[in-house]
Amino acid sequence: MAANSLQELYVEQLRDLYDAEQQIIKALPRLIEAAQSEELSDALNEHLEVTRKQAERVAKICQELDEDVKGEKCKGMEGVIKEGSELVEEIEDEDVRDAAIIAAAQRVEHYEMAGYGTARTFATLLGYDDAAQMLEETLDEEKEADQKLSELAEQLNSEAMEEGEGDEEEAGTEEAEADAEETPAKPKRSTRAKSGARKRVA
Ligand code: FE
Ligand code: ZN
Ligand code: FE
Repeated sequence: MAANSLQELYVEQLRDLYDAEQQIIKALPRLIEAAQSEELSDALNEHLEVTRKQAERVAKICQELDEDVKGEKCKGMEGVIKEGSELVEEIEDEDVRDAAIIAAAQRVEHYEMAGYGTARTFATLLGYDDAAQMLEETLDEEKEADQKLSELAEQLNSEAMEEGEGDEEEAGTEEAEADAEETPAKPKRSTRAKSGARKRVA
């Protein structure tokens, strides 16, 4: 559908965002299942719940405009999700796979942030203050999710770094020291038990 006014473009963007959220709702469970780190799967699970509310928010905005929320296919999100899913599926090492899941999820969040930032600005320009506020709320949630993923990446990517080092005992010592230095107050990750128990391909 070609938009010939800012109003039409706004509605098109909302539909695109709605479809993007629907795609994310479908894709997240697979990433959650693929995640080794419980903290990562918890964070993704939490964002799945938030995502459902975000989709409802967009639907409500369209409803108030008397516009159908359905009708757009977000090809961009389709590509972002496809690329991320394929990447994650190919990786056998669990730590490296967690790093890939975070990388894929952060691309999703950034793509959403671009869309919601634009939609929020359009809503403000068009005088839809309530809608602008709702879109801003979602934008903040996406930023929060992105930040949480950055924090997890900082923790988990160091584990992925150890892959291929070979000497497990030494790697374990370095890891324990790093944990003690960087995160003294945080409880031990539950992945510790899992990663200790898993098979390591030498
Ligand atoms: Fe979202
Ligand atoms: Zn799109
Ligand atoms: Fe999101």
